[in-house]
Amino acid sequence: MTRPQAGRKNTLTLQVGADNRPESVPASGDLKSRTEAAAAVAAANAARVDRDARFPEEAITAVRAQRLLGIMVPRELGGDGAGLSDVVDVCYGLGRACSSTAMIYAMHQIMVACVLRHRGNNAWHERLLRRLCAEQLLLASSTTEGKGGGNVRSSEAPIERSGSRISLERRATVISYGADADAIVTTARRAADAAASDQVLAVFLKEDYSLEPLVAWDTLGMRGTCSAGFTLRAGGDSDQILPEPYELIHVQTMTPVAHLTWASVWAGVAAGAVERAQFFIRNAARQASGQLPPGAAHYTRATSSLLTLRGVVAALLRRFEQASHDQAALASLDFQTMVNLTKVEASELAVSTVMSALRACGLSGYRNDGEFSVGRYLRDVLSSPIMINNDRILANAAAASLMSAVPGSLIG
Ligand SMILES: Cc1cc2nc3c(=O)[nH]c(=O)nc-3n(C[C@H](O)[C@H](O)[C@H](O)COP(=O)(O)OP(=O)(O)OC[C@H]3O[C@@H](n4cnc5c(N)ncnc54)[C@H](O)[C@@H]3O)c2cc1C
Repeated sequence: MTRPQAGRKNTLTLQVGADNRPESVPASGDLKSRTEAAAAVAAANAARVDRDARFPEEAITAVRAQRLLGIMVPRELGGDGAGLSDVVDVCYGLGRACSSTAMIYAMHQIMVACVLRHRGNNAWHERLLRRLCAEQLLLASSTTEGKGGGNVRSSEAPIERSGSRISLERRATVISYGADADAIVTTARRAADAAASDQVLAVFLKEDYSLEPLVAWDTLGMRGTCSAGFTLRAGGDSDQILPEPYELIHVQTMTPVAHLTWASVWAGVAAGAVERAQFFIRNAARQASGQLPPGAAHYTRATSSLLTLRGVVAALLRRFEQASHDQAALASLDFQTMVNLTKVEASELAVSTVMSALRACGLSGYRNDGEFSVGRYLRDVLSSPIMINNDRILANAAAASLMSAVPGSLIG
């Protein structure tokens, strides 16, 4: 796994262009300090973003200023050549500060990973990656469609072709930050006469599409992801379709990278809540001459489930890194089952961690105001079991789990 050069100083001087984008200033500095700088801006604006259900403009401007959007792109195309382990760490760091910013970052990186791995020799996608790094383009994703809801492996709307030109019109019922993205990466049926599961993945730049509002985004949590629904009308060149079938992209990249980055965001959100609970318990103990409050046991439980959650994510990351150059291993039933069940486990652990943090803080955590409030973390993390619904995953995994052998040894 390549990492950005260690020990470089963060010498970035932010130059902002007319459109609020950083101009081509190479951001040096190690990834940790760049993440911390962006996370500080995200944390300062998180409550307002949540209250107003608005796009985290300040945080994403800071993410761009730190040139974090293209970190996975190879150096020769303008990126840092960072690995997925770097990306998940950024997701975790941002998740502690602002769940919506972190989830936007995660969803963008999933799309980057798909383009990176499955672009073949396609010059259009190589130009896209160069532009992504130079201009810090933000990619959104559209998989949820019409009545099909969360079944990612089924598309209604087909790609229409006319010579080398393509067009698509789809009822995209959820597109996070669709209105604020620079490009949308969307699944579609390969052609009007193709089966619903015969899909492609295509990239459309902002100038290629229009969005007509379908449904607003007024939700319990993750309010800043602004995941409204639109009728997406797009047109472009056939080169904008990734050359590999979506079936492959789905198993090799989309699913594992989505579940790893999402789980890292949720772990970050859970860590943010645990931090609040720690602050509360320390404060309460100080005021009671060192006597721990009754909620202290819940704090211990929160740290314990956060530890387990981090371990679950790390184990999946390790498996993915081991398998990432082996197509058969990635497609294997065992690996796919592990990926999907890890998503279920991680989301449930994240929710229980935040619940324990809330109980540790008692009324102070339950309040929406005050420095110990855990409300926003709880509302945000409750999106995790439904972001690709756990019930759907468990139902789909049931047969596969029955066919897999129960492990005969503890390690390996
Ligand atoms: C914060 C957030 C951001 C999102 N951003 C995007 C985005 O940018 N782009 C995008 O395309 N989508 C996005 N989504 C949508 C997401 O990808 C899923 O489509 C969505 O979360 C699925 O929600 P659902 O539970 O209504 O749908 P479904 O999975 O369709 O489930 C509907 C209901 O049916 C049940 N169910 C479904 N299948 C089964 C089964 N086999 N067995 C038993 N019960 C079943 C479920 O329990 C649920 O009650 C986002 C979702 C969230 C929460």
